[in-house]
Amino acid sequence: MATVLIYSDKASMALELLTAAREVGAAAVKAVTINDNAAAQDLVGAGAEVFAIDNDAINLADTAAVASALAQAIEQLGTDVVFLSSNRRGKEVAGRLAQIIQAGCLTDVTALQSNGDQIECQRNALGGATVATQTITEAKKVIAIRPRTFEAAAAGSAGSLNDLSVEAKPSAVKLVEVRSKAGDSVDIEAAEILVVVGQGMESQDDLPLAQELAKKLGGEVACSKPVATDKKWLSEERIVGLSGKKCKPQLALLFGISGQVQFTVGIRDARVIASINTDENASMNQMSDYIMTADLKQVLADLNKAL
Ligand SMILES: Cc1cc2nc3c(=O)[nH]c(=O)nc-3n(C[C@H](O)[C@H](O)[C@H](O)COP(=O)(O)OP(=O)(O)OC[C@H]3O[C@@H](n4cnc5c(N)ncnc54)[C@H](O)[C@@H]3O)c2cc1C
Repeated sequence: MATVLIYSDKASMALELLTAAREVGAAAVKAVTINDNAAAQDLVGAGAEVFAIDNDAINLADTAAVASALAQAIEQLGTDVVFLSSNRRGKEVAGRLAQIIQAGCLTDVTALQSNGDQIECQRNALGGATVATQTITEAKKVIAIRPRTFEAAAAGSAGSLNDLSVEAKPSAVKLVEVRSKAGDSVDIEAAEILVVVGQGMESQDDLPLAQELAKKLGGEVACSKPVATDKKWLSEERIVGLSGKKCKPQLALLFGISGQVQFTVGIRDARVIASINTDENASMNQMSDYIMTADLKQVLADLNKAL
């Protein structure tokens, strides 16, 4: 298979892309970093051949500037296949880059498989109700892979670090300040245990019961979409599913969740799922390892008492 060029604005995601390229059987992997010495070192530590662009004129907040830098890197390194992370910025870079180098482009890819010279990409389709396998038929391919689809490459034998020089036009975007997001900064994707609350919870007054349980178990509280967007009981950072986060906890305890496909795409990779629902026929039960037909408030209270 072809040489794959990887780039992400987040070091941890670049390491995931390194794993992706290796698992898909790339002939070689060339990792590009832009103004990020720490990421370059992490990638070298994981055995990658790194090409570090160090150019203060490239504004990382300007996706057009990043795409232009990557297009120049691709030309210099002679690669036809590019893996990017399908985070917010990565998706934007993917479209812009594909347009510059005249490549086919797929974003939100959730699995990859090589088939001869082709790379088969899986993506959720029809609102998450099904999975489509798609390939890019153009010679040049830009593929943006959803974060956490692959494990980050571990440190191993050292790779190499090379300088790469690209030109940057003055950016139309001026970065005024970088500030952490106000409010809830929870990372439910990183949690090993999730206590997930659905619309079956009748009152916001019951929410502390879920928070207490999550704390006792060393986990985080997450929710279905309506709990955050309609009821506004929790922040949107905590939504599991198609429009929220794709989580892979060791244990997911689901309280009052019906199991609509837009929710389950975000939790189906959990190692163990236990669902508590008053409806013994809830769709969520089909995907759950443990089912309890019971009132969630009572179960939460009992669990908190028992722990
Ligand atoms: C484009 C699109 C994107 C979407 N993205 C997402 C997404 O990312 N994430 C997401 O979650 N949803 C998403 N949705 C919404 C999704 O379709 C469902 O509406 C939503 O997941 C339902 O949430 P729920 O299971 O909490 O609520 P409900 O479907 O209302 O289910 C509540 C459940 O609680 C049970 N229950 C009631 N009382 C109790 C009790 N006392 N004890 C125990 N159980 C009880 C009921 O039997 C029921 O099964 C999306 C929809 C669309 C159209």
